[in-house]
Amino acid sequence: APAAPHSASGEAVDTHDLDAVAPPPRPARRWTPKRVVATPAAYDHAHGRRIMALVEAHGLEVERLRGNRLTGLRGESDRETYARAKATMAIVVSPPSRRKLQPIAPSADWRVDLAEGCPAHCQYCYLAGSLTGPPVTRIYADLDDILAGLADYAGRGTITSRRADRRDEGTTFEASCYTDPLALEHLTGSWRRAVEHFGAWDAPVQLRWTTKFDDVDGFVGLAHHGRTRVRSSVNCRPVTTRVEGGTSRLEDRLAGLRRLARDGYPVGVTIAPIIAVPDWQAHYGELLDAVAAAVGDVPGLDLTAELITHRFTPGSKEVLLGWYPRTRVEMDEQARSRKHGRFGAVKYVYPAETMAQLRSWFQHELADRLPSCRILYWT
Ligand code: SF4
Repeated sequence: APAAPHSASGEAVDTHDLDAVAPPPRPARRWTPKRVVATPAAYDHAHGRRIMALVEAHGLEVERLRGNRLTGLRGESDRETYARAKATMAIVVSPPSRRKLQPIAPSADWRVDLAEGCPAHCQYCYLAGSLTGPPVTRIYADLDDILAGLADYAGRGTITSRRADRRDEGTTFEASCYTDPLALEHLTGSWRRAVEHFGAWDAPVQLRWTTKFDDVDGFVGLAHHGRTRVRSSVNCRPVTTRVEGGTSRLEDRLAGLRRLARDGYPVGVTIAPIIAVPDWQAHYGELLDAVAAAVGDVPGLDLTAELITHRFTPGSKEVLLGWYPRTRVEMDEQARSRKHGRFGAVKYVYPAETMAQLRSWFQHELADRLPSCRILYWT
């Protein structure tokens, strides 16, 4: 029989504790912007100054702008503007429109923005259809006011509080609609403060965010009190390795999710966008098995799945083709069904037959491979 494994100190290792025998995790993926700017107004906020101190502690210089508008971001060509913007981080005060929260079905009751923009390069990025202008990453300096303002929304559920299966979540706030938290946390500290804010909040509320990064160090051991659900945004290997530039590797994201689950966080996977690549059943089957291997044995696991199929709009396609002219993501209107979304906007989704096949496969395979996982929604 093979000898029992031993730790470096020579003591026998409990093989049931996978973390005890796992190799040490790789350093998390961390973004280093080429340029960091701050508006004068950002200096008036304590969190703005905290971000500046963090940025400087990373050896980066903060450039104080003359005015509160971001200018000078455009390059000679669209490509140059894109590259320049994606390498720039701006510390700004949130626009007043962002302080009036909007419902964000089916994920949460309300959308709360702590930042806007993301340094990664996913060729299907949903921000292309939502945000306008050069894709600079803007971090909000008025975080403390943003968090204090949430009290007005507690108890005012729009969606999730009306669903019996989600009632125990309380009022839910989604904080990753326009950005990726773990891509930015090392330079901002914003989501850690948000987790602590929700942890200390004496009301039935939940903070939610999803990420394609793995920098969870600062979150392990925080006083989260189970009021933050972190989801790892994951995809099958042909998608994640080919079109998610600048993000953390799938295995590193799942290792991060495991650490958070072991720290008592409710966790989840956002499988998005689900793309009907050739042989998709085998590839997504491998993904579900990887999730099960990463978190399936965590004691007291609270795991959800959010399933979002790929879609595009005429506007998002145009922006994405400008950003990624040689994209490998299929955006062929002829192969899709045309639908009208909110406010009559056109979007292209998979045809009904493909949609039905995908949906029933995911429902069946999730129940089979990850029986404790609850599906929150399919779209
Ligand atoms: Fe867009 Fe998310 Fe990819 Fe960032 S990680 S580029 S927000 S899809």
